[in-house]
Amino acid sequence: MNRFEEFITRIVQQVGKKEGAISPIMVNSASFGYGNSETGEGIFEGSVKKPLYARVGNPTSAHLEQILASMDGGIGAVAASSGMGAIAMATLSLLRAGDEIISIGGLFGGTYSYFSETLSRFGITTHFFDVDALDAIEEAINTATKILFLESVGNPNMRLPDIKKIADIAKAHGVVLMVDNTITPLSVVPIALGADIVVYSTTKIITGNASSLGGAVIFRAISEGEDKLKGDRYRDIHPFINKMGATALIANAKKRALRDFGMSANGFGSYLTMLGLETLPLRMDRIVTTVETVAKGLSERGFDVSHPCLPHHPHHERYLNQFSNGCGTIFTIDLGTKERAFEFLNHSKLITITANIGDSRTLGLHMASTIYRDFDEETKEFLGITPGLIRISIGLESAEAILDDFTNAAKI
Ligand SMILES: *Cc1c(COP(=O)(O)O)cnc(C)c1O
Repeated sequence: MNRFEEFITRIVQQVGKKEGAISPIMVNSASFGYGNSETGEGIFEGSVKKPLYARVGNPTSAHLEQILASMDGGIGAVAASSGMGAIAMATLSLLRAGDEIISIGGLFGGTYSYFSETLSRFGITTHFFDVDALDAIEEAINTATKILFLESVGNPNMRLPDIKKIADIAKAHGVVLMVDNTITPLSVVPIALGADIVVYSTTKIITGNASSLGGAVIFRAISEGEDKLKGDRYRDIHPFINKMGATALIANAKKRALRDFGMSANGFGSYLTMLGLETLPLRMDRIVTTVETVAKGLSERGFDVSHPCLPHHPHHERYLNQFSNGCGTIFTIDLGTKERAFEFLNHSKLITITANIGDSRTLGLHMASTIYRDFDEETKEFLGITPGLIRISIGLESAEAILDDFTNAAKI
């Protein structure tokens, strides 16, 4: 049984209930009555497990969190208002002024700006590396390094990291490895490869139908014996480890980020996300196959396509050996110039032109004029943004229909 088969059984069983309402129960209250003062005290103390206030937890989001944690082998998860909210929660709960991040691969434009512009205003420095610069990454680690941050697939540069090797570096130096797995849920299981924290924009393939903006952070358990979080580097977390043990990272994220910054998911958003999540394994299974068929078909027809399933891609071997469940819904086409790229997108009858990815519909976007328009030339080169680059996110349509449409759109 492959992972998609296994999870289509598990997820539908976890989303639905056997008794009463089958569809997840949607709670949208901002606050919750405690009944009496003793219970109120117990809730705040943590001895009574009942909702406190929607900023720090919602029962519908808790249902979603439970499913996402089990999907990734985490001890728990915290849902967020967006993918950026999830990244902010995960990072801000571990960082203080003077700390450093090492960012590897990718990088999604929003995350790049967050690291390079926003966090730098608060005295946090990020060093950026290509996925294969392993020696330089190791050299850059020092006592201020708190997070190695990794994107499971370069969006949109399509470079693939050797996650296991990078996790081994993180382990050897006692540094937390955080993986943005937005593009490859189920296909890549970061915690099994040695990651400590996984972040998602659930807006993308997890919901899959543009109905809800959301995010989530999944945490691994703190080990009973030795654990890198027990090292001196993470002394800020030690009070949580002493009190909560295995679930310390969840308590830390809730108290240090969610409570004070308020990037909280809402009940309706989490409900819609679960409806999407229910069919995630089926959609992923179909789309990773369609992506390969379309990328190969377009390449044969003379398109300049970047996807690691193609033999000329620098990470083709790594794709075959380490990405047996595919690497998500995206690939890029380079049409040479902005004009050709615009013509192609405008002539396609099938592409929806938008900044999203991972939808049921095939989406496309010219990179340099949109997400990366404010970036300087050097940064664009590092991120692989060329003048004619279009990012495609394949949907549920038939491979044949997509190939026909793209071929027609390019004939001008
Ligand atoms: C979209 C995206 C994000 C940000 O998610 P939002 O839900 O839009 O805030 C982060 N990382 C990756 C890889 C993404 O594609």
